[in-house]
Amino acid sequence: MTNTTPASVKITPMMQQYLAIKAQHQDAILFYRLGDFYEMFFDDAVTASKVLGITLTSRNSKDDENRIPLCGIPYHAVSSYLAKMIKAGFKVAICEQVEDPKEAKGVVRREVVRVVTPGLVTDEQLLSDKDNRYLAAICQKGKIWGLSLLDLSTGEFLVSERDDLAALLDELGRLAPSEILLPEETGEDSSLANELLTYLPQSCLTRRSPADFQPEMARQRLLEHFRVANLAGFGCEEMKAGIGAAGGLLLYLQKTQKTALDHIEQLTPIEFDHVLLMDESSRRNLELTQTITGGAREGSLLDTLDLCETPMGARLLKKNLLFPLQDVATIRQRLDTVEQLYLAPQLREDLRELLTKVYDLERLNGRVVLGSANARDLAALKCSLAQLPQLKEKLAGATSLLADLGTVDELAELRLLLETGIREDAPGSLREGNLIKPGYNAELDELVSLLRDGKALILGLEARERARTGISNLKIGFNKIFGYYIEISRGQLAHVPNDFIRKQTLVNAERFITQELKEFEEKVLGAHDKRLELEYRLFTTIRATVAAESSRILQAAAGVAQIDFFCCLAEAAQKYRYSKPVVTAGEAIIIKEGRHPVIERALPPGRFVPNDIHLDQESEEVLIITGPNMAGKSTVLRQTALITLMAQMGSFVPAAAAEIGVVDRIFTRVGASDNLRRGQSTFMVEMNETANILNNATQRSLVILDEIGRGTSTFDGLSIAWAVAEELVNKNGKGVKTIFATHYHELTELAVTNNRVKNYNIAVREWNDTIIFLHKLLPGGTNRSYGIQVAALAGVPAKVVARAKELLHNIEQGEFNRQGEPRIATSPRKKKLQQSGQLSLFGGGESPASLRLREINPDGLSPREALDLLYELKRLTDVE
Ligand code: ADP
Ligand code: MG
Repeated sequence: MTNTTPASVKITPMMQQYLAIKAQHQDAILFYRLGDFYEMFFDDAVTASKVLGITLTSRNSKDDENRIPLCGIPYHAVSSYLAKMIKAGFKVAICEQVEDPKEAKGVVRREVVRVVTPGLVTDEQLLSDKDNRYLAAICQKGKIWGLSLLDLSTGEFLVSERDDLAALLDELGRLAPSEILLPEETGEDSSLANELLTYLPQSCLTRRSPADFQPEMARQRLLEHFRVANLAGFGCEEMKAGIGAAGGLLLYLQKTQKTALDHIEQLTPIEFDHVLLMDESSRRNLELTQTITGGAREGSLLDTLDLCETPMGARLLKKNLLFPLQDVATIRQRLDTVEQLYLAPQLREDLRELLTKVYDLERLNGRVVLGSANARDLAALKCSLAQLPQLKEKLAGATSLLADLGTVDELAELRLLLETGIREDAPGSLREGNLIKPGYNAELDELVSLLRDGKALILGLEARERARTGISNLKIGFNKIFGYYIEISRGQLAHVPNDFIRKQTLVNAERFITQELKEFEEKVLGAHDKRLELEYRLFTTIRATVAAESSRILQAAAGVAQIDFFCCLAEAAQKYRYSKPVVTAGEAIIIKEGRHPVIERALPPGRFVPNDIHLDQESEEVLIITGPNMAGKSTVLRQTALITLMAQMGSFVPAAAAEIGVVDRIFTRVGASDNLRRGQSTFMVEMNETANILNNATQRSLVILDEIGRGTSTFDGLSIAWAVAEELVNKNGKGVKTIFATHYHELTELAVTNNRVKNYNIAVREWNDTIIFLHKLLPGGTNRSYGIQVAALAGVPAKVVARAKELLHNIEQGEFNRQGEPRIATSPRKKKLQQSGQLSLFGGGESPASLRLREINPDGLSPREALDLLYELKRLTDVE
């Protein structure tokens, strides 16, 4: 960025100030406050005018060559412009006038009061209710990766450590931070930034000095912030790398936010021992929070389940969905809580009704502490707090967890303060008055009545002056320039008394003031300013009182979030006819009439065909599922994973009945989802994911494999699929619960030699040369793929379908001969095809590359020709 001015330009003192401030914020667009505007200059102006779609002008300069590019935005509309800049990926430093221009000697003092970055957004316009917005920091110490995350809007502050980068990236993927801080590269470790850019292309990377993350200093900074002697109370004293990350993050915060950060009250270690783990691709494959194609929330499991009434509830639901549990007792406790609310529809309805009136307590509290809450925010806070006593009352008779939730702090005195202090109809601005209720402050009431009575006082004065002068059309008026005046028409001027002071002459009249009128004016006009000032002061005092109770508000918010979360799951259970699963520490997963929670919603009621699944580690460990495309293989696989996951988060499940032996991890390898953003080929991604499964699956894991080996040639694919299935049956001696959907019918033979493997197929019925999908899972394999019928259903032209049938006829005896070659390669028809020059579709024929090779005499080639030839051969093989 070149923000220097040419030496020839004479720069004003204000420009000097601008340049000095800008020098401190090179990586941000500087919003420089100038009266009622924020101005941008130089390159910032050029960039901002483009991003914001506003006119680029220039600041006056005698010398046209050195004009300074300039653009500006009105201060009251700053939030929408700010939102645009952040969405476009920029950081913005907001520079305010920090002294009253009237009192300033020379240039008004200005300071950057806040730097807004993608990870540090608290403005409503940029936040989505239902998602946390995280800023993350990463720091490596030896072999350990430290990670910290913060949501500035709510004050949530997390820390964790992992011993490998892949696990760290999985975790980051779960929480999808908007911005990631990392130590400036020292040369060799640029791989981290590259990994982040490919895994999390949505996150903005911000590099900070490595010194910021130095663990000892970082620890000190955290101790000071939390005013504690050690970090043992938070359970993270031992996390060196984690502390480095958290301290680095806190420093960044302190440098960018010139406000109190008191709502950041604790550092919470992310718990992994009790969490059901899922890697990033499994989460994506299962479409937990967004769909694979398009990344939309709609169509995800979260979207289906989210019947929450409050933003806190919705965020908690999302978190619990991303971090399901493993601990049987805790899961059962959650399920029991959902059941209580499920069985009490009236109570649930009452609670949900109350919850609709609770606003985003966490974020309201965040804005209060950060000093950006306005009177409307406080009114919303009051309205939210007003629901707490009733919520408590409703939960009075409840048991267990619900009873605990019923003990939520009512914050009665805060509510009273807000009720008596803050006007419900207050404007968004804090400088226009109308913030404080009558009766709250005597001085304010007096000023208000003076202003209200001003009109009557004027009328009284007017009547008295008329009587004194005998001028019946004497009028008292007001204008902005002269203030109050007495107007006398030209014909009556002779009657004007001596104590009238002439101010202005008009065509038909003259205007005067009197001493009394002057005094009145001072009182009234002074009262107006005083009132605005006093209201502002009273308001900020109330806000500070509320801010001091931040931790109690956050506790109440957490209680509300829980109530909402459980009500939501109970509501979903009833609305979608879910049932309470039996969660055990055993090995079996037995689902009766299971459904896919999202797909069933997209179909007309009753159209989804439920299926039973039985997995255990004795005789039903690896289920091989065959069936034509579109039969419903992927659906049954995913629904098994989703039902398991839902049960482990404490939710009822879409099944008539389910027994779920808790699993420690769910692995999925689904479909040919191309992971283009990682720049890898489909097959490579598929094998990466397969390797991950084989390396990390334990006896207690659930593995979902959908069509593995599809990305390579038939033989390779089949061999890999076979070997993977074998490994899963035998892994750790006991094997891993696996459902394996495949179009390789050959795999069904595994069941012959291995009694833990069972075959299933999804039924289709043949009817008049076409097929009907029954979507029913049945025992036994199938040896038909009905690909041609599916092609016909998909609209492939009849001519092509007919030709495909003809070709199929030739290989119908089975796709492979004893040598493992496609049978057609030796058939007479194949020979005929080759002779007629048709493509060697089934292998065996000579390729163009090999024909070309035949012509070559290697000894007669120059090195250059050899290289060219190599390229040519490569091209030929690529075409094949
Ligand atoms: P496959 O993986 O066998 O190719 P999918 O699982 O992708 O098939 O299912 C294809 C479509 O069939 C789904 O999008 C859905 O519309 C429908 N489908 C699948 N399973 C069922 C079911 N159990 N009941 C009703 N429709 C289903
Ligand atoms: Mg499929």
